[in-house]
This record gives sequence, C-alpha cells and structure tokens, in this order.
Amino acid sequence: MKNTRYFSTQGIIIRKQQSGEHDWFLTIFSPEHGRIQAISRASRKITSHKGSHLDPLNLCSFQFYRNGERLLLTECKVENAFISLKSNLQQSLTALSLSELILKSINSDQENLELFQLFHRYLQLLNQNTLSSLQLAEFKIKLLRNAGSWPDLSLCFFCQKKWQDSSAIWFDSESHLCCEECLTLTHNQLEIISFNSIKLANFLANYEAANLTIHTPANNLFELDKITDQFLRQYFQHDLKANPLSY
Ligand SMILES: [Zn+2]
Repeated sequence: MKNTRYFSTQGIIIRKQQSGEHDWFLTIFSPEHGRIQAISRASRKITSHKGSHLDPLNLCSFQFYRNGERLLLTECKVENAFISLKSNLQQSLTALSLSELILKSINSDQENLELFQLFHRYLQLLNQNTLSSLQLAEFKIKLLRNAGSWPDLSLCFFCQKKWQDSSAIWFDSESHLCCEECLTLTHNQLEIISFNSIKLANFLANYEAANLTIHTPANNLFELDKITDQFLRQYFQHDLKANPLSY
C-alpha cells in the first residue's frame, strides 16, 4: 500500500459535480489508478481559471493529497481541453455518451492503460472530426474486449463449428451465435445475422476502423449495432448484479 500522501497522475475528467457551496467533486479516469474521485476545494488556489480547468473531458495532469479516505486536488494543468469538440453540440453529446460507457467500465485502483488510450484516441478523433458509425461500433467492441466481455464470434457457441461464407448464423437473445444444426439447443428468441456482419465485428475487435477502406453496406452497420448494443447491455447488467456498489 502506498503511504505517500501526495501523488500525481494524468487523467481525463469524466464528471464534475458541485459539492457544498464552493467545492467540486470530480470523477477522473487515470490510466494508472482507474477511477479517481477527488474534491477540489475552492479555498485551494489551483488557478484563477479553475472552473474551466476542471471541465469534463479535459485531459489534465493532476496532483492529489490523500487525507484519510479523501483525495484533495492540489494541482491541475490542462494538457488538452478538446475545444473544437466542445464547440459542436453533436460531437459533445457523442463524447459524453462515450464517457458514460467509460464511467461504467472503470474501477478504483485498477490500472487500465489500454482503455485510457482508446478513450483518448476517440476524444482526439471527435476533436478533429465526427465519428463514423463504424468507428462508434469499434469503440463499443474494444471497450467490451478490454472488459473481457467480447466473445469469439468466429464460431457457433454450441458446437464450436467455424463459420463459412455460406453459413446461416442466428443470434439469440442471450447473445449466443448459433448455427443451423444447433437451433434446437436454444430456447431464446432468434434473429438471423449475415456472415459479413460477423466478419466486420471480428475485424473491429482487432483492427482500427480508420484502416477500413471498403464501403460498409447499411444492413451490416445495422446488424453490427444490434450485436454490440446487446453485448453492452448484457455486460452492464451482469456487472450491476456482480458489483452493485460500484455504480
Ligand atoms: Zn452449432
């Protein structure tokens, strides 16, 4: 256990809530410490522009002082405020919805450099441009993969047979992929999913959507959204049951 009362880290502010009359209660995602919750006291002169320094989505370097169970913010230097992103309503809303997903996925005292880099890369992308539907799907898939909740989609869940171009693939309401021969093994609601959508999902789990130059048909994007959203719902429900205090 660390006994240093001061520590420094880089992080992205996820949430800023008023605490008392003058203080702020901050939720920060740090690559080394996961979720950090800290108080910024108005009496501590962080800077005269303290309000904007502590805006959600700012990437900052912080210094904290540990006082018993509490963390007090003692220094904050903004490294990137993602100004263009914040001047665009649509991009701000997208960034906030990504940060809500991040908030649900991080724990205190848990290093997660990979997820931090993913979130940082997406804030940079939003700051430069809007995200494509494919990139949004990629974010969700990579978040699930980081959490260990992205299954191997290259085979039938029941018989483990690998998909072929000609395979008929069903997706059930418990998020299992199922081949034609195994249909009797699931009693859940079923929907057919094209092989190309599964291939696309597998690609996004391992590569960046920006490198995908082929045209993606609308029905594949629709199916991809359906799959990723269902996995996300399942992941968060499961986590809510397993770890109710962290939300
Ligand atoms: Zn099967």
